[in-house]
Amino acid sequence: MAENNKSSIVWQFFEVKFLDESKAVCKVCHVEISRGSVQNRRFTTSALSNHLRTRHGAELTQAENERRQQSSASTQPTPCPTTLPGNRKRLADTTIEAVLAKRQTWDIDHPSAVLATKYLAEMIATDLQPYSIVEDEGFIRYSQHLEPRFALPSRRRLSERTVPDMYIKVKDGIGKLLLAGKKIAFTTDIWTEGNTTKAFIGVSAHWIDSEWNRKFAVLTCEQFSGRHTGDMTAVKFQAALAEWKIPRELCLVVIRDNASNMANTNTDTRYKLEYNNKTC
Ligand SMILES: [Zn+2]
Repeated sequence: MAENNKSSIVWQFFEVKFLDESKAVCKVCHVEISRGSVQNRRFTTSALSNHLRTRHGAELTQAENERRQQSSASTQPTPCPTTLPGNRKRLADTTIEAVLAKRQTWDIDHPSAVLATKYLAEMIATDLQPYSIVEDEGFIRYSQHLEPRFALPSRRRLSERTVPDMYIKVKDGIGKLLLAGKKIAFTTDIWTEGNTTKAFIGVSAHWIDSEWNRKFAVLTCEQFSGRHTGDMTAVKFQAALAEWKIPRELCLVVIRDNASNMANTNTDTRYKLEYNNKTC
């Protein structure tokens, strides 16, 4: 079954895997299923349908029946409930219920609200937007226009639950991709932010995956207080490797600038790094 659009009923049960479009994740049992190809124009829904038929047959049948009812309700003229007896009256009630349901605000755990919140959190992370965007008048108006049933989550919920949960999932995904690399190269730097004079350290990883795709991830970007000596820099770098559970044998090279503290990162006796250390 070629995947020609996203209206297929399978997408009520699946969502595309974050960071890997070649897979879809079942919303019921969280199993990952291949979309049949790594090229998106050749994706299919066959395996997804098979999964639903074999594992969630009852739910699939119910969804198909609901879809059939919705499409027949939308093609029927709306009858007047006060003048129609019997089964046509029941149809009118059903139609009114459907209209009211379309105007009701989604509960916070409604599947559509969960999905909309997920995309909102991804937007905040991807576009470096502040959490307070959900309190901005223009954004609220824009969101209400697109989907009046979606009540925007609070900035507190986003910052304390949604984004931290997403961080754990993304970190887990990147960790698996990292460890699939045979060798990893690192770049690291320390810089001072001009207005506040606060210092930051960044560590990035670069590797080639099993299909020869070049991969890149920022492992840490954190404030660096105290003296920026070579040994402290080495400690920060080693902490980043430990945090991501990267074994030393995967480390190919560390690229740094030629500032004296960075150059000393590799010569300090106490925290000597056994890495191939190059300047740029
Ligand atoms: Zn499933």
